[in-house]
Amino acid sequence: MEVTHFGEKLANHSGITQLMDDLNDGLRNPDAIMLGGGNPAAIPEMLDYFKTLSQSMLDDGSLVHAMANYDGPQGKSALLNALAELLNKTYGWQLSSKNIMLTNGSQSAFFYLFNLLAGRYADGTHKKILLPLAPEYIGYGDAGINDDIFVSYQPEIELLDNRQFKYHVDFSRLTIDDNIGAICASRPTNPTGNVLTDSEIHQLDQLARDNNIPLIIDNAYGTPFPDIIFEDVAPFWNENTILCSSLSKLGLPGVRCGIVIANEDVIQAMSNINGIVSLSPNSVGPAMALSMIERGDLLRLSKDVVRPFYQKKSQRILNMVLETINDERVRVHKPEGAIFLWLWFNDLPISTQDLYKRLKARGVLVVPGEYFFIGVDHEGWDHAKQCIRMNYVQDDKMMQKGIDIIAEEVARAYNEE
Ligand code: PLP
Repeated sequence: MEVTHFGEKLANHSGITQLMDDLNDGLRNPDAIMLGGGNPAAIPEMLDYFKTLSQSMLDDGSLVHAMANYDGPQGKSALLNALAELLNKTYGWQLSSKNIMLTNGSQSAFFYLFNLLAGRYADGTHKKILLPLAPEYIGYGDAGINDDIFVSYQPEIELLDNRQFKYHVDFSRLTIDDNIGAICASRPTNPTGNVLTDSEIHQLDQLARDNNIPLIIDNAYGTPFPDIIFEDVAPFWNENTILCSSLSKLGLPGVRCGIVIANEDVIQAMSNINGIVSLSPNSVGPAMALSMIERGDLLRLSKDVVRPFYQKKSQRILNMVLETINDERVRVHKPEGAIFLWLWFNDLPISTQDLYKRLKARGVLVVPGEYFFIGVDHEGWDHAKQCIRMNYVQDDKMMQKGIDIIAEEVARAYNEE
């Protein structure tokens, strides 16, 4: 089939498509050990809560009302008001409903934002999105209608005790000029579990404002919901920040609800795109979120159930990895948030693409790290070929089985030196 430039760019097989295909295969194959996808954990207390909530929303008619009606292109007004009030009360921000809009998952919000701010401008310039620290979220990689819309830089790597490490933005490398349309970072970061420090965020904010471009913060795992963040850092927003949140990692990826918080111009532009692309965002997730806010449950469950679940689990699985793969060349990024562990196999003689294939042949699905080094010059930088991402959301027995197989395959690869 002959297709347009848009078709060539988007209809081809991409990293994110491979990931979603694997996730789907894994879900169909009961024996696969799915450490690949970004599906949140099935936390029994959250699943019970969603069941009870849906039942009471069926009883009071609000669920069927949501299913039977379109919202406006900005999203459900009652939720926009409730969110503005909640965030103002929690953080002392000064938002109104005009500062918030909803999308069908935050992935769509990034597609809109990147194509709004990067690519060809009317004056003929071609601008890019600056990702201050590689590796970054795989889902950004193919989201540009134009080619080559990302630029990113190698981080500083701090080696920590207990075979851990942490990435930091290397500000000495960042170059911002007229060719940059926005800065974007996920915090906590998918794939690494890194959390940019308050100082890094303030420096990025300053850089963005000095250059008159927005700072996009991907808050899919951040505060106040789902709150999968284990470091004591401050939430951040101002009129120059575009903060993107989501209901997915709270445990509701199927309702596809993304939340964008920004100045009124950005929200208006994003709502207009929503109207063209989707007419209006899904109404069911927003109706559930509204009910959760009205019952005082959204922040309570995030803080008391979701965060502790992931915090304990990340530590347990980190220890499992360090004990099972007992090799000085293997390190794990300090888990500071999100739902993944990022493993670094220093001096690995094969690429992690090959490791991925060997693991897949043995029924263990992970994501090879290469995909996450988006827009960064990694010629000669071996580190970019030495990492994998695994989620830690499966039950502990399954995790141990998967990690045993990773340990065997990694030892085999090192022996091929
Ligand atoms: N941002 C990050 C960092 C993610 O990990 C994900 C999903 O895994 C998304 C955005 C998109 O999530 P959703 O479209 O479900 O809101």
